[in-house]
Amino acid sequence: MANQQILPLLLLALYTPFLLSANLAESSYEENDDSPIARFRQYLRINTAHPNPDYAPAVSFLKTQALSISLQTRVLEFVPSKPVLLVTWPGSNPSLPSVLLNSHMDSVPVEPEKWVHPPFSAIRSPDGKIFARGAQDDKCIAVQYLEAIRNLKAKNFKPTRTVHISYVPDEEIGGFDGAAKFVPSKEFEELNVGFYLDEGQASVTDEFRVFYADRSPWQLVIKAMGEPGHGSRMYDNSAMENMMKSVEAISKFRESQFNKVKAGMAANSEVISVNPVYVKAGIPSTTGFVMNMQPSEAEAGFDCRLPPTADPDLLKKRIAEEWAPDIRKMTYRITQTGPIRDHKGRPLMTRTDESNPWWSVFNQAIAAVGGKLAKPEILSSTSDSRYIRQMGIPALGFSPMTNTPILLHDHNEFLQDKVFLKGIEVYESIISSLSSFTQESDQRPAL
Ligand SMILES: [Zn+2]
Repeated sequence: MANQQILPLLLLALYTPFLLSANLAESSYEENDDSPIARFRQYLRINTAHPNPDYAPAVSFLKTQALSISLQTRVLEFVPSKPVLLVTWPGSNPSLPSVLLNSHMDSVPVEPEKWVHPPFSAIRSPDGKIFARGAQDDKCIAVQYLEAIRNLKAKNFKPTRTVHISYVPDEEIGGFDGAAKFVPSKEFEELNVGFYLDEGQASVTDEFRVFYADRSPWQLVIKAMGEPGHGSRMYDNSAMENMMKSVEAISKFRESQFNKVKAGMAANSEVISVNPVYVKAGIPSTTGFVMNMQPSEAEAGFDCRLPPTADPDLLKKRIAEEWAPDIRKMTYRITQTGPIRDHKGRPLMTRTDESNPWWSVFNQAIAAVGGKLAKPEILSSTSDSRYIRQMGIPALGFSPMTNTPILLHDHNEFLQDKVFLKGIEVYESIISSLSSFTQESDQRPAL
């Protein structure tokens, strides 16, 4: 009995030093408040997830950081409660076209119960992973831009070209009240942007990924009309029959595109993707649907994505003639969410060869910090870059994250602390190179 009482005490005495050292080890992961990691985590704790992103604290945080390193700031508001924060580092030759770095302040929603850590607490695990919504998409670059400038200023670097950073709202919901309003504005024109950098994506290898184009999203809705009839009757041109013929034609086209990917002839982002997202038909009953009646209407929705190399007129013709033809009493509606050609009718692609001097400078800046670029890609989805390319301004998508799983929009989004810190070094090289680059004839280079 006595022994049994002493045993727990003995065990406690034996383990106490280990418990203490474990606590100490954990606290050593905590950085002081005045560090890039601390500022990154602070920004991650500001919840700007849809559907109700709170932009005011995000603007206030970023503005405070920018002012702490003597940068100029300006808040523009094209739509109430949807601010655009503009940060400026004036160059010694402000007549040269400027460099603009962009980051969106919003993020996609979360399902907190599916996360190992609360998504807005920015927990840093003992192995250095920082968990938060936005850690990869794209709050990392928002802070890295400023930290890179902080370091360059500390080294007494002076830019020749002016460097701007724009922090925009609503990218995750199409950018209609954000970049789409900002880019055509007088304020944007006054920035005289020569080159633009925006978010990219994580790379699972040790090569950085870079994106020279986005695919353009089309939301396609097709609708079939037809004579209603008894479920037992066979007749031509019922709404459902017409709809099924269309679905068959669309599936065939989808397969032709997907086969190119499967055969390794094209990347996912280089083909036209068409994916069914809903089908609506039938007459509801108390137990489900009326089964002995053929409905007079049917509707289906498709998410389509066009690479810049696709011919939009050709796809429209295919939709009108094969997927929703008049002769089958069908109608269709296409909602384009963003441009697919620039003002001169050219595909929205930024050149990634020697003919684009900005590309060469960017490429060399990456190499200067021991980095390697993977083959330039088309982004499968979209970013605000498409609005910039529409203006004929060269734009690249880039987020310096190597050896990192792609977790944007996923549960347990995280970024490794070392990867975040390396990214600051990468941007120091990029910002110093781009802002020092001067050409003999400094016309704004074409897309
Ligand atoms: Zn993003």
